[in-house]
Amino acid sequence: MGVYHGPKCKLCRREGVRLYLKGERCYTEKCALEGHAYPPGEHGQDRRRRKDTSYGVQLREKQKAKRIYGVMERQFRNYFERAARRQGVTGEVLLQMLELRMDNTVYRLGLAASRSAARHLVGHGHFLVNGRSVDRASYLLKPGDVVSVRPESRKIAAIRENFENRRRTEDQPWLEIDEKEMTGRIAQIPSREQIPVPVQEQLIVELYSK
Ligand code: SF4
Repeated sequence: MGVYHGPKCKLCRREGVRLYLKGERCYTEKCALEGHAYPPGEHGQDRRRRKDTSYGVQLREKQKAKRIYGVMERQFRNYFERAARRQGVTGEVLLQMLELRMDNTVYRLGLAASRSAARHLVGHGHFLVNGRSVDRASYLLKPGDVVSVRPESRKIAAIRENFENRRRTEDQPWLEIDEKEMTGRIAQIPSREQIPVPVQEQLIVELYSK
C-alpha cells in the first residue's frame, strides 16, 4: 500500500488543525500552523473564507482521517467497507480499526514520535506481537494482544528515548503499559471517547453512503 511522502505540515494547513504528523515539533511554537492557520498555496487565505458545500465538508473529514492515520484512499475505503459489515456504529468501528493498526498502537504506546516514524520502525521488524515478529504497519491488533520491543531493538536510542519521554497525557486507557518491560497490552477495543482524533466520522459514513 502506498504512503504519502510529501510535506506533512501542508496537510495540517489544508485541514486547518494540528494532525500531529511530525512528532515533538507539533507540540511547540515551531508548528507550521502557528500564524498560518489557512490552506497552503497562492489562494490559501481566500479558500479559508469560502464556505464549503456539505459534500466539501464530508470530503474534508475523510481526508483528515486518512491523513492522521497515514492511510491512502483505496485502503481507507477497504476499512470503511469492512466497518460497514461489522456490528456497531460504522463510523466508530472505522476509527476503532484505524486505532488498532500496528503503527498507530506503537505510536500510542509512545514507542515512536509519530505514526510515520512508527510505520518505519514496524517495517524494520523492531516489534513483536505475542512474542512473534510483526513487520506490517496495517496489522490489526485485538484485545489481549501484547506488543513488545524485540530484545535486540530495546537499545535503539530512538525507541528508548521516545518511550521514556513520551507524553503521559497521551496514555490510552485501552492500553495497559508495562514501563519496565516496554510492552503494551490491548486491554479492550477503544471506545469513541478514548480515540482523541478531531474527526466527525459520521460525515465520512455519509460521504461513502451516497
Ligand atoms: Fe502539523 Fe506537526 Fe507540522 Fe504542526 S508541526 S503543522 S501539527 S505536522
